[in-house]
Amino acid sequence: MSAASRVALVTGANKGIGFAIARELCRQFSGDVVLTARDEARGRAAVQQLQAEGLSPRFHLLDIDDLQSIRALRDFLRKEYGGLDVLVNNAGIAFKTNDPTPFHIQAEVTMKTNFFGTRDVCTELLPLMKPQADDPTPLHIQAEVTLKTNFFGTRDICTELLPLVKPQGRVVNVSSVMGFVTLKQCSPELQQKFTSEAITEEELGMLMNKFVEDVKNGVHKKEGWPDMKLVTYGISKMGITILSRIHARKLSEQRRGDKIFLNACCPGWLRTDMGGPKGIKSPEEGAETPVYLALLPSDAEGPHGEFVMEKKVEQWGLSFQFPPWIVI
Ligand code: NDP
Repeated sequence: MSAASRVALVTGANKGIGFAIARELCRQFSGDVVLTARDEARGRAAVQQLQAEGLSPRFHLLDIDDLQSIRALRDFLRKEYGGLDVLVNNAGIAFKTNDPTPFHIQAEVTMKTNFFGTRDVCTELLPLMKPQADDPTPLHIQAEVTLKTNFFGTRDICTELLPLVKPQGRVVNVSSVMGFVTLKQCSPELQQKFTSEAITEEELGMLMNKFVEDVKNGVHKKEGWPDMKLVTYGISKMGITILSRIHARKLSEQRRGDKIFLNACCPGWLRTDMGGPKGIKSPEEGAETPVYLALLPSDAEGPHGEFVMEKKVEQWGLSFQFPPWIVI
């Protein structure tokens, strides 16, 4: 390996979409592909599976919740490649839905369900939802754990690895339309903050922490956060989509000549452990948009700082047009 070698890296790549993205990059990317996982055995098993298919990924341990782990990876990339060409932030978690414990009163949910009429359908169709899966974890723990990985873990990866991205590099943050579902259901005050072009990474981090605190203190509804299933997941993904815009803006300001493109995307509703068996696409189909963004050619003019679905740039924010498989 030399500093001149190109390298692409996928987080959370031992299974699901991340594994499919890593496989496709092994086939199409001209350079090394580093498959990362937080569990060594699971990661190495995934590498072996790709090797059995004639592909040659490298492996590196990475737990995006652990700054030391991120920094060890950063040092590895610096030493072996002098930087990074493609970063796909895919790792994420979702608690199962229908948690009866702290999610306020069942009756309230039922009222809401009945009032809107389509809630049962919605429950079936919302992405990332596993049917009949009751997760008893208290909501405040869900909030803390989900935000820790999906938002803060991904943010820390960006803090440590974005400076390593080489000219013409590509960064893909695997986010979700669920982010826009939650944005739509936030109070006008929160919506105004989240959609402001001037929001900073610090302000966003503070708002993400405030959500966790508000849930802990039982005041999240009063404070304007949505009262809906998958709220913790949705908020974490909303954070990632907004963070992507902030980072893209910074890259444009600070490394204008480098033509680095950074985008957020939604892979669709997929049949993975997270998406459940009713997902409408395979992980391979879901990998198409992230891989397209990871491999944007050197003469491309964009996209940059966008939210992309089905390889198409979508209207960002409150004017986002929801795909038919989302019912809100
Ligand atoms: P899976 O649950 O199948 O896979 C998630 C991956 O992330 C696993 O490899 C998991 O590792 C890893 N991971 C979780 N926490 C960490 C961590 N702290 N550090 C490193 N890796 C971690 O989910 P999907 O493949 O379905 O989802 C991948 C991405 O796509 C997620 O960001 C998700 O939010 C997004 N997405 C998924 C949709 C869907 O329908 N499936 C829809 C929209 C977006 P381990 O095996 O060790 O748990």
